Amino acid sequence: MYDHRKLGRELGLFDTDPLIGAGLPYWLPAGAAVRHALEEYLRELERRAGYQHVYSPVLGKRELYEISGHWSHYRDGMYPPMDLGGEQVVLRPSLCPHHALLYRSRGRSYRELPLRLAELGGQYRAELSGVLGGLTRVRAMQLNDAHIFCTPDQAAAEARAALEMIRQAYAALGIEPARYRLSLPGPDSKYVGDPRIWDQAAAMLAGILDDSGLAWEAGEGEAAFYGPKIDVQVADAAEREATLSTVQVDFYQPAQFDLHYTGADGGRHRPVMVHRSLVGSMERAVAHLIERHGGAFPDWLAPEQLVVLPVADAQDLAAAEVARQATGLGLRARVAGPDSGTLNRRIRSSRLVPYQAVIGEREAAAGQVAVRLRDGRRLPLLPADAALGGIAAHVAAHRIGLWDAGSLSGPSPRPR
Ligand SMILES: [Zn+2]
Repeated sequence: MYDHRKLGRELGLFDTDPLIGAGLPYWLPAGAAVRHALEEYLRELERRAGYQHVYSPVLGKRELYEISGHWSHYRDGMYPPMDLGGEQVVLRPSLCPHHALLYRSRGRSYRELPLRLAELGGQYRAELSGVLGGLTRVRAMQLNDAHIFCTPDQAAAEARAALEMIRQAYAALGIEPARYRLSLPGPDSKYVGDPRIWDQAAAMLAGILDDSGLAWEAGEGEAAFYGPKIDVQVADAAEREATLSTVQVDFYQPAQFDLHYTGADGGRHRPVMVHRSLVGSMERAVAHLIERHGGAFPDWLAPEQLVVLPVADAQDLAAAEVARQATGLGLRARVAGPDSGTLNRRIRSSRLVPYQAVIGEREAAAGQVAVRLRDGRRLPLLPADAALGGIAAHVAAHRIGLWDAGSLSGPSPRPR
């Protein structure tokens, strides 16, 4: 594996500036392209699974986090409040309280449940400067988050479906979990609520892990303060584990925010909140993807998907036309012309780009391209529009592996 901090700088993905501050990386165009592709993929996966997307502010009044319990149980991780005309507002440590208020914004019927609200939103953690580094320990992050408000009877199915979506996303991203952990409370007193409810939630999650046939282990003292959770762990270059994805069943916040719905019996009932994140924060997910793939991202995530290489100046126009067509098909493409070196040198400097379309005199005359794949394979000469269409279709399918013009039944299953 690779160190994402080193590779991220070499590949121009992200960087930091002391004037912005430690733990506050910015994304350069190549890194932003990867993140954007990831965000779009997740949004579409969620949309197809019946999630509705929302936006909520990154600030909230201190009182909001007093109700949610963050103020008393998670204060060390929170930024100090800002005084605004007699009110105190805080950068949010999580999105859950905002989504609880969105749920509460009007009366709810059992017919609306499960209500799945998703947001790719900012959350903030007051990490000490000594532990900050790269994209993995940051003070501001964009979380792929969702909260499913459902009846107690629906909670297990919702948590199971969320776990299945995580596995689907991992297949498309080419990442392997190091292990599945059922995170339980520890001996200290930071865990809120009735221990019987905790046992009930933990038993539900253990049952889901068992049913899915995954090997898992329990992690004492790893739960959130308000409930147990399934954590999907990944390992970094130094074999250090981190949590990427989570599924959590929560009976506590719905009570804190007095959430309810009208049941089929006309009575007032308490929903359950299932918290889940498919890949965690964009920062941590992209850090892991950089290390996992060494910068050779799956084609749909690659910052540059196609480089067009005219052999000589005479093919510059034909190359520009192919790049223009590729861009029109939604591909990230550019021309690397003879002014940037010999053909071999240009091929070497594009070694992480999944597809390289070489255009010599013969290809230009015939409207063809000679496609080389990043792994060294060469495809037969193809009409340019057939090659671009094939690549664009492969990219749109979010597959691991590269399009090779013939064997479209490649080694990886379609992610959706
Ligand atoms: Zn949450």
